[in-house]
Amino acid sequence: MTTRRSLLAGLGTCGTLTLAASYAQASGVPAPRGTSGGQGAMIVSTWDFGAAANAAAFAKLRAGGTLIDAVEAGAMVPEADPTNHSVGYAGYPDRDGHVTLDAVIMDDAGGVGAVAALENTIHAISVARRVMERTPHTFLVGEGATRFARDQGFPQQSLLTPESEKAWRDWLKTAKYQPEANSENRTRTPGGALDHDTIGLLARSADGRLAGACTTSGMAFKMRGRVGDSPQVGSGLYVEAGIGGATSTGLGEEVTRVAGSARVVASMRSGASPQKACEEVVRHIAHLRGDAIRGVQVGFLALDPKGNVGAFCLLPGFTYAVTDAHGVTKVLKAASLFQA
Ligand code: ASP
Repeated sequence: MTTRRSLLAGLGTCGTLTLAASYAQASGVPAPRGTSGGQGAMIVSTWDFGAAANAAAFAKLRAGGTLIDAVEAGAMVPEADPTNHSVGYAGYPDRDGHVTLDAVIMDDAGGVGAVAALENTIHAISVARRVMERTPHTFLVGEGATRFARDQGFPQQSLLTPESEKAWRDWLKTAKYQPEANSENRTRTPGGALDHDTIGLLARSADGRLAGACTTSGMAFKMRGRVGDSPQVGSGLYVEAGIGGATSTGLGEEVTRVAGSARVVASMRSGASPQKACEEVVRHIAHLRGDAIRGVQVGFLALDPKGNVGAFCLLPGFTYAVTDAHGVTKVLKAASLFQA
C-alpha cells in the first residue's frame, strides 16, 4: 500500500510551481498561511473518524504547514485507512466493481482543485491539490484525471481490497444491480470505529483564514460514472474569505440539487450563524423533496472565521469532530431535523 513517504517521494519528482505562486495566479489574494505553530488554529471534520484526520491536520499546522497542507494531510488519513469503505483505499466500488474516487480542495483566496471518478490512486485529495497547483483547470474527471495522476508520479495500484470486493459480490446477489441510497450506512456501528462516510474538513487559522477538503469513494455500488456532491465546488465544499466554509456528507444527489455548501455559506453571508445556516439548507432540502428523502441522510458542517461551528442533518447519527486551538478534539452529535 502507498505510504505517506512513498507519496512524498513521488511528489518530489514533479514540477516546481509553488503553491504561493498558484494562489497569486488564481486570485491576487495572498495565500492563507499556517498559524505559527498551529496557535489559534481550529479544525472541524465530518464523522467520528474525522478525529484522526483532525489530529494529522493540526500536527501539520504545528509543523508550520499552510491551511492547504493541513486539510490535505487530514484527508489523507481516511483515504489510506483500509477499514474505511467510503473514502479512498478500500472504498466500496461502483456496481461494476471499479473503485472510483472524488475529491476537492479549496482555500479562501480562489484556489480550487478537484477530481472525480479517479481510479488507481489512493490519495485523491493530493491529485485534486495538484490540479489546483499545476494545471490551468479546476476539475479533471475519469480517464483524464486518472492519467493526470499517473503522469504526475502518484503510485498506481488497485484500490479494491478483498473485503470490499466481497461486500460488492454479496451486494450483487440481492440488489438486482440497482444502486440504493445510503446503503453503506447499514454496515455502520453507530458512533464506533466503523462509522464512516465522506470526510469533509474545514480549517481556520488564528487570523480567520479558511481552507477545506472533501474526499470520498462516493455512494457504494453506484452506477459507473456517477459523481456525487463531494468533489463539486459549492456542493460538497465551499469556502469564502471573511464569511466561512461548509462541507456536506450523505446522499450527494440531494446536496448537488441545491448546491448545498454554497447555500450554507450564502446564508452566513446574509448574517446567519453557521448553525442556523446548516439548519436552513437541511430544511430547504426536506421541503423541496418531501417524501423522496424519507430514510435518506444528508448532513452539513460549517465553520466561520471566528471559529463558530454549526452542524445539522436530516436523520440522527451524523457526528463531527472539532479540534480547538489547544489541539483538543471532541466528537459531537449533530442535531437532526427528523427523529428517524
Ligand atoms: N456525499 C457522498 C456522495 O454522495 C457520499 C457520502 O457522504 O457518503 O458521493
